[in-house]
Amino acid sequence: MKQGIVDQSSIAEVVATAEVLGKKTGRTMRELGLLSPQTLNHALGSYLKIPTIDQISSFASEIKGKVSNKQISGRTIVFETDQVIYILFSEFCDELIEALEKKNKQIELRIINRDQWLYLVKSFFAESKVVEIQNQVRSDQFAYKKLFLEVLSAAKERSASDIHFEPDQKGLRIRFRIIGELVEYRFIGSNHSEAFLNEAKNSSGLPLVVSGKSADGEQKFEDLEIKVRSSKLPSKNGDGLCLRLIPLGHVKQLKLDSLGIEDQQIETLKEALNFKNGVILISGETGSGKSSTVYSMLTSLDTEKIKIITLEDPIEYESDEFLQLKIDKEKMDFNQGLRSVLRHDPDVILVGEIRDEETAEICFKAAATGHLVISTIHTNDVFGIVSRLRLLGVPEDILGENLRLVATQTLAKKLCVHCCIKDGKTKKRNSQGCQDENCIDGYSNRRQLLLQVLDRKGIGKFLEDGIREGIPSMGEIAQAYVKKGVLAHEDCLQYI
Ligand SMILES: [Zn+2]
Repeated sequence: MKQGIVDQSSIAEVVATAEVLGKKTGRTMRELGLLSPQTLNHALGSYLKIPTIDQISSFASEIKGKVSNKQISGRTIVFETDQVIYILFSEFCDELIEALEKKNKQIELRIINRDQWLYLVKSFFAESKVVEIQNQVRSDQFAYKKLFLEVLSAAKERSASDIHFEPDQKGLRIRFRIIGELVEYRFIGSNHSEAFLNEAKNSSGLPLVVSGKSADGEQKFEDLEIKVRSSKLPSKNGDGLCLRLIPLGHVKQLKLDSLGIEDQQIETLKEALNFKNGVILISGETGSGKSSTVYSMLTSLDTEKIKIITLEDPIEYESDEFLQLKIDKEKMDFNQGLRSVLRHDPDVILVGEIRDEETAEICFKAAATGHLVISTIHTNDVFGIVSRLRLLGVPEDILGENLRLVATQTLAKKLCVHCCIKDGKTKKRNSQGCQDENCIDGYSNRRQLLLQVLDRKGIGKFLEDGIREGIPSMGEIAQAYVKKGVLAHEDCLQYI
């Protein structure tokens, strides 16, 4: 109030809300939108009487040997011992403190100056190449945060599916995966790359105090209407980062008839979904959009009348319509999870992926006891799914009785309808592109789903005598779209 940031009436409201929420006043104000994180940090920084460190060398020798985890983030250093987390900084950052509070340890704050920061970096992080780079970095965490959000929104604007942050000797390369291909977006020089990468890891939900290990995280960005799933990628130049962009609130828009497949195929999928029990399996490589297909199936079901439980690691799309369980490897393994899901009496279960014999066995048992199980599996074509299930030890008669539908899918580059060029009976790409907002160098930013489907009859036939006739190959499916002028011939050669 003294600084004129808030007035008396909002203070009363904040205090009451903070009490109800059991949260600190400042954080409540931030959550209510009365304060920006920067303003809060600034105000707290000048208000709190945080101790400084007189003798940095004695502080260092005191904690040396006790430190179990350490981390540099901009001009902040975090040391974790068994009992205490020391946060040493020159700029107050409540988000960092809030994140570390989750560890349920005592937190000690100290203000340090630039020389002390350098001393600690040299004594504790000397083996790391972080040192020389960090020496040159200005302590401007918010600038990095801003840049990170800029990268995210640029990626979203260009309909990128992933963002790659790849460190090399000269700095940090940022590339977007757009309609299946990596496109360079920006390069950040070595004087800022490490600090920016730390910020990117921090902002994308990766654990703060993990170094040298692989890790996964998740973070929502409501303003951008996306969720990112982050994973650290080890490389010879240090840990890189890969972010998968997932649209928020997207589930309801996922519908069978917006998948872009033929009406006949939609009918076949619906027929399979009409069964009260059985197993439906979708295969395809990573990034082939399996989850969209699977979720489109779920949303086509009548959620008012049936109970749907999903069991995934990680949860691909969030929805209020189903009960979604995330598998936490440390607390519960997949098969334990699946067993406990069955006790909740669902009608339909989505199982993230069938990876091993045990999962396959439980899925088919669930199917045999009156549940419809939808899952994914890793194979190259529909016949491969059947062979793989055999290899996973599912008996032939169980397959015949319970397998309702198998499908394999891939995503193909689609021509921009506004600028593609006539090429005899087919069409080809205009590599110049056009002004259409969905046009990227002559391709549409939406890709064409190629779906190969084997229904119950086809499965029965294949199980009986191994006949593959009548089922078009992925190459033939692609060619049909070439004839329609949706895909270019040259982009489909890979499927033949
Ligand atoms: Zn175009």
